[in-house]
Amino acid sequence: MTNKKNNFCIMPWVSLSVRTDGQLHPCCQTLSSSKMNYFKDLKASPINEIESIIKIKEAFLSDSIPNECLQCVKDETNGGSSMRTIKNGIYSEYIESTSFSLDKFELFEIDIRFSNLCQMSCLTCEPWYSTGWYQYSKDSKVPSAPIRSMEDLENLKSLLKVNSKYLKKITLTGGEPFIDPLHDKFLEFLIDNNLNNVQLEYNSSLSINSESLTKSLKLLSNFKAVKIALSIDAISDDAERIRRGLSWELFQSNAQLIKNALSEKSIYFHYTLSTLNSHFLGDVLVWIHNNFPSSTLNTIINIVHKPTEFDSQNLDPSSRKKSIAHNLKTVKENLLQDVSEEEFNHIMKLLNKAHKYLQGGASE
Ligand code: SF4
Repeated sequence: MTNKKNNFCIMPWVSLSVRTDGQLHPCCQTLSSSKMNYFKDLKASPINEIESIIKIKEAFLSDSIPNECLQCVKDETNGGSSMRTIKNGIYSEYIESTSFSLDKFELFEIDIRFSNLCQMSCLTCEPWYSTGWYQYSKDSKVPSAPIRSMEDLENLKSLLKVNSKYLKKITLTGGEPFIDPLHDKFLEFLIDNNLNNVQLEYNSSLSINSESLTKSLKLLSNFKAVKIALSIDAISDDAERIRRGLSWELFQSNAQLIKNALSEKSIYFHYTLSTLNSHFLGDVLVWIHNNFPSSTLNTIINIVHKPTEFDSQNLDPSSRKKSIAHNLKTVKENLLQDVSEEEFNHIMKLLNKAHKYLQGGASE
């Protein structure tokens, strides 16, 4: 196909990302800019006529890289994979068999932030993503109310109805997605419109009242595939210190509720490496394996780059060395005897990723 050159990215043709303030992007990696249209613009124009997305498509069709996509360029230049390479890989057959034009659009996946409503104020987060942060921010620009992408579900319902035959995956993040007032209504809409065969993915801190989580889980039990990624940066008191506002006890009991209502395999764990927890990775892996063994293979590592003060490459070399030694010792003494070959390989992959970064390597 002549219109799919080296810089091509599939995302503007198959994906949407709705930011906290309603900015509409092709994916969660594109950089925000004043040129982007907003979710409310979908009232006036269908998605294949949204100007800012068309501009991004134009760039890819002429083999240029749009400015909004510099994060992918950076990731690839650093020698790692990027969202672009990952998604082009996932959709490779579709790319091969499809001819792309400016007005083509088939919504395969959408990620949505209803709002920044969140009760927590994790040290590495900021007010833009959490209303819990408002009380700690000295920035006078902090708004007095939650930031919302949409006040009701009407636009979203129309978009999903029109694209229902293509839709494969919906990702809900926030803020804390489970506490947004639109969340349960959205699940009810999906169920009522036979959209419960899509894969639902979440990022959650589990700082949620157990009764309201139980209500949401009852709705989620109608869906074929649900993945709930839980943020875990340390365990017990250390987890509460880094993820300010978290109750470790509530985190554990809510994780059990998910396990009982859905399955242990629905639970994913996301550990975010920063200056605050580089020496807790071993303890976190041991805890996951002891408490949610099926989720060991569902554990991934993210790396904090911003705020730069939390970038673990800023730790002094001796602290980084100590963290690596401590993690290896903890895992060797408490975990490796007790795991399958597949789990062993996955654990080593996670440790290698974190330790390579702590040694000054690029993040992948
Ligand atoms: S190049 Fe990267 S940032 Fe741009 S649309 Fe594709 S995946 Fe998203």
